[in-house]
Amino acid sequence: MSLFLEVVSVSEAVEAIRRIAPPPRYEEVPLEDALHRVLARDVAADIDIPGFDRSTVDGYAVAAAETTGASEAIPAMLRCQGRIGMGSADAGTVSPGSCRYVPTGGALPRGTDAAVMIEHAEQIGDDVLVHRPVAPGENVVFRGEDFAAGKTALTRGRVLSPRDIGVAAAVGADRVSVAKRPRIGIISTGNELVAVADTPGPGEVRDANSYLAGAFVTERGCHPVYFGIVRDERSMLKKAVASALEQCDAVLVSGGSSKDERDNTAAVITELGEVLVHGIALAPGKPTIIGTAGGKPVIGLPGHPASAYVVLVAVVDYLLAAMHDTTVSRRTIRARLVQNISSTRGREDYVRVSLKNGEATPVFGKSGLLNTLVQSEGLVRIPASSEGLEVGEEVEVILW
Ligand code: AMP
Ligand code: MG
Repeated sequence: MSLFLEVVSVSEAVEAIRRIAPPPRYEEVPLEDALHRVLARDVAADIDIPGFDRSTVDGYAVAAAETTGASEAIPAMLRCQGRIGMGSADAGTVSPGSCRYVPTGGALPRGTDAAVMIEHAEQIGDDVLVHRPVAPGENVVFRGEDFAAGKTALTRGRVLSPRDIGVAAAVGADRVSVAKRPRIGIISTGNELVAVADTPGPGEVRDANSYLAGAFVTERGCHPVYFGIVRDERSMLKKAVASALEQCDAVLVSGGSSKDERDNTAAVITELGEVLVHGIALAPGKPTIIGTAGGKPVIGLPGHPASAYVVLVAVVDYLLAAMHDTTVSRRTIRARLVQNISSTRGREDYVRVSLKNGEATPVFGKSGLLNTLVQSEGLVRIPASSEGLEVGEEVEVILW
């Protein structure tokens, strides 16, 4: 077996993978289909939002100055000039010494600049006794205060959340421009691999990585295209990769990424294009390949599913983000380590941890075990410069 003589750091690998990301293409989609898509163009408010001064409480629209000094003992007394209906085009004008009942969200009439909560007022016939003073603007959202007309409400590059979708709706964006879903070809290679529906015979294992990688890219807004299991044979792998390249924007090949002579992925990428990186100072995940062919990224992932997943998180995530013209967004949490973790200097380690009550416990396991993936909640990254982490240290956990 030849050695990994030119292993690069994780940050160099990330740089390399971002450089080869094909630029995104864009499409317009109805807002209801835009969840988790990456916004390609800013969304601005088409009009002032809200379009009128409105009350945030059920109560009475008043001129704040007329409630100065009001108290339980000496309430301010105002004349009630009727009720404001929801959605009414004109809330009218309130004359001095008067007020008008306004429901939550109702428009403030001219002559008023605040709302008194119904709990702080008492209506007796046509008179309203106000027991507490209100300041100008209290319990009111003014026209354009939320989003002024033309103001950017959502910035390009944002991964649209349910909250964003609601805001886009409020500012009139019934269609939004988003990055097209990149098509990611997925190939698993290995003579020992059988389909999930099959029962593995002696020496065989089920193809977990196609599903693992497919789900990962789906979660990141991509469209996986599955090319199935390919035997460890150069010509067959070459054919599969070439066909995936024709149909997709990038290709992930799992297995065969090491430097054994039976490992074909690097050789196939070299025949079709160029290998840029072969080997990353990363554990698990060293046997990783970054290459291009026909201007498209071809990535070789390690065969062990847990290693493949770490490479997806630590490196491939950056490719997928760049293909959407956005940045990697990670959910992280800080936790205290309950055990020492040793690490080799010069290599970035990703340790799976389980979390409970703010404590992170490393989930160690023999290389290749799948159960560590379900027994952990995330990863702790140990930088290449570190020789390990000590019990009691506060660490950042990248949540799965
Ligand atoms: P390789 O990277 O091809 O040397 O494979 C390393 C280990 O990962 C071997 O034990 C393989 O059986 C296993 N492996 C490779 N591909 C897959 C896959 N698609 N699903 C599950 N395990 C795999
Ligand atoms: Mg193999």
